[in-house]
Order: sequence, then C-alpha cells, then structure tokens
Amino acid sequence: MPTNPATVPRTAANLRWPVEPAQGGWYTEDEHEAVRRVLAESDDWRTGWRPASYTGTFEDAFAAYTAAAHAVTFNSGGTALEMVLHHLRLTPGDEVISCAINFVGPHLAVIGQGGSLILAEPDPLTLNLDPVDTERVLTTRTRAILITHWNGAAADLRPFLTLAERHPHPVHGPPRIIVDAARCCGGRTPSGQVVGAEGWATVFSFESKKLMTTFGQGGMVTTDDQALADRLRTLRTYGGRDRWGVNQMMTKAQAAVGLVQLTRLDGMNAARIDRAHRRTQRLTHVAELALPPTWHDRQHLYYRHNLLVPASWAGDGRDQLMNVLAERYGVGSIVSDPVTYLGHRLIRRHTNDQRCPRAEHLASRLLCPCLHPRMVPGDEAAICDAIQQATEHIARTHGTTE
Ligand SMILES: *Cc1c(COP(=O)(O)O)cnc(C)c1O
Repeated sequence: MPTNPATVPRTAANLRWPVEPAQGGWYTEDEHEAVRRVLAESDDWRTGWRPASYTGTFEDAFAAYTAAAHAVTFNSGGTALEMVLHHLRLTPGDEVISCAINFVGPHLAVIGQGGSLILAEPDPLTLNLDPVDTERVLTTRTRAILITHWNGAAADLRPFLTLAERHPHPVHGPPRIIVDAARCCGGRTPSGQVVGAEGWATVFSFESKKLMTTFGQGGMVTTDDQALADRLRTLRTYGGRDRWGVNQMMTKAQAAVGLVQLTRLDGMNAARIDRAHRRTQRLTHVAELALPPTWHDRQHLYYRHNLLVPASWAGDGRDQLMNVLAERYGVGSIVSDPVTYLGHRLIRRHTNDQRCPRAEHLASRLLCPCLHPRMVPGDEAAICDAIQQATEHIARTHGTTE
C-alpha cells in the first residue's frame, strides 16, 4: 500500500532539531577571510566580479581531489545534471534508467531534456539503484543509467559499467553512466576510488544542506571526457560562439569559499560519519528498527541516517513515529525521499504505468531523523533516547510483528 507523501507529516518549524539541518553555520575564519579578499579585490571597475580565476582554481583543486581529468563549476547541481544530459541530445524514445526512490531533481532533468524516464528498484540495504533490476529494464533504447549515491551511501558502479558494455545502444554505443553525487561529495566507492572518478560524468551539489556548501548554492561536474568538459564550459556561458547555451556560472565568492570548504571536506565528513556510527551503535538494541549498515568496503557519508520501521508499521505507523518524535521530543525527521512518482504529478504523468513496488514499500517504512556533524554529545543522546522511546510507544499500539 503506497503512502502518499502528501500525508507524511511536515513537522513544526520550532523543533529543537530541525527536519533538514543545513551545513550552514560551519564556515571558519578561513572562509570569512576568503570572502573578504574577494570583496576587496572585486571593488575595482577594472576587474570587478569576473569569476574565471577563482572558478578555474576551484575546478583544478576539485579535479585533483577526485582524480578526474576535468571539473566544471555550475550555479547548481540541478543545472549541472541537466547540461550533462543535454550533451546526449536525447530524442523521443531515448531512455534513461534511474532509481524510483530519489530526489525529484534528477528525474525532472531527464524529462526536461527530452528523455523517457525508466524507473528501477532500489537495493533494500543501501536504497541505491539495484543493478539486477536495472538489467530487467535495459533495452536497446537505453542511452544512460543515472545512479544516485543515495543519502551518502556510495554505490558500487562496477556492475553498471559491465551492464552498459554488455548492452550497447545500436547507434550510440554503451549507455552512459551518469552519477548523481549531490549527497556523496568526498565518499569512496567499493572499488576504492573517490566519488567523481568513475563513470562518464559525476554531478555534485553545494546547496546549503550538502556535505560542503558554496554560500548555499553551487554545483560541479567531473569527467574524463574532454569533449563533454569542453561542451559544458560553453553550455554554461551562452554557447561559446556558435551553439546554444545559457548563463549558469558560479560566482567568484562561491568559488573562493568552495576552495576552502574542499580542504575541510574530509574533516567535516569524518565528524558526520562519527556521529552516524555512534547513533547506529546506540540504537542497535531497538529491535524494531532496521539501521543503516556500517560498511567497511566503502565510505558512507551518512548525508542522512536511514531508519526502516517494521513492515507492519509501513505508512501509518511510520507517520505516527515521525509525529511522536516531533511533537513529544522536538526531533525533526524526513522521508528522504519518497518514490518520486507518488510525490510529483509531472513525474507520475510521464511514467504512466510504471510502478516499483519494492521502492514503494521501502519508502513507506523509511524515516531519517535529524543528523548533523555539529551536534554535541548531549544532542545525540537526547535524539537517540527519543527515537527509542517513540519507537516503544508505537510498538505498544502497532505491535512488532513483521
Ligand atoms: C540536492 C540534490 C540535487 C540537486 O542539487 P542542487 O544544487 O540543489 O540543484 C540533485 N540530486 C540530489 C540527490 C540532491 O540531493
């Protein structure tokens, strides 16, 4: 029974721990100093705010960090992804496969660029796109597989690279592997590589909630494909001299703080991972909750700390748990994210008769209580106690049988 995300509680704004904590509030004196420098040197009509020297340096540093050949800045992760898809020149009937549990942005980008969005099921442990179900929906019309590293859990891309090689498009060759790493900046995949090095193109977001942020907006693409990198650079600045394009530039001040944030990224991620591991440990004895696995073959960044309630609580029971957490304990939580076609009418219209029952069921059991690297031990203890007590409360009314 699918849960309509519209019925999922949108909890009060005055929560002690917000529904979606932002990374803001974690700029150090170094970011402030970088901004002051940009302000001072841009206050001159001969130079002004032209970003190139700063965005170029940020791109070089980001490419070096991920070990990709090229990095291209954008004004957001969403536009960056749209421009990567634009480069494929999708024509009607061209298919792009993506996981049904997702942020709406990647699915809207496929639709916006003229592709047919083909939905596939998530892996039940990681909620990442399942390669087995991907193979089920692969056709000779598949142009790309869009893999989102879900909530910081770095996906293994190798099965998808193999699938693509085995099922080439008759005209365009192997479907492109496009990676949405908006929630996994700084992660490491099971092949030991930094996120951004594998696949055809990887898209990052520096929006306010993401693992590093450039004043609350910003994006980046990494790729080893010189032609893609060249085209992306003209797409974001009115097409160069002869092709279509639009202004999607990152500003100088964003690039300046991005450079500082990048040097701090591993440290910020380590703090988040530490919080997440402690939470998992503290909740192990809460028998009703399925906790995120602690991986040793990859670096999971815990953009969110996914919890799954028992199958018998799916939908209503989960919603009640979120309400109790918010109302009694001030703990915000979010369903991150519902199946996109249940939450967004355009995506539903576009995907018509496609259904992903496994995704619907998992999403109706999912909740992600507030987690942030800047939480102090007292916050974490209070949140874990709240989760435990709220779960016991629901268990009394719903029972615990599967
Ligand atoms: C945030 C996000 C995006 C889009 O990034 P913006 O910079 O906000 O446009 C895309 N995909 C996922 C999974 C995201 O979380």
